[in-house]
Amino acid sequence: MTGALAPVKPLTALDRCDRCGAQAYIRATLPVGGELLFCAHHGRQHIAALREKGADILDESARLSETPSIAPNDER
Ligand SMILES: [Zn+2]
Repeated sequence: MTGALAPVKPLTALDRCDRCGAQAYIRATLPVGGELLFCAHHGRQHIAALREKGADILDESARLSETPSIAPNDER
């Protein structure tokens, strides 16, 4: 009932970047336990170093392009 066996929880809008508080799209699970959340911007900055430490990276930043809340093209 608590989903203890679920290997990966998807990130939600309630997950926030540890650095800036923006919505998190990247989660790094540390081998020693604990996890860090990053927005796409800060994730890119920290993922490489975290991978070297053996962290397991969940990158959902691809979902950014699925939510056209902000149009990438400035239409005029
Ligand atoms: Zn951030």
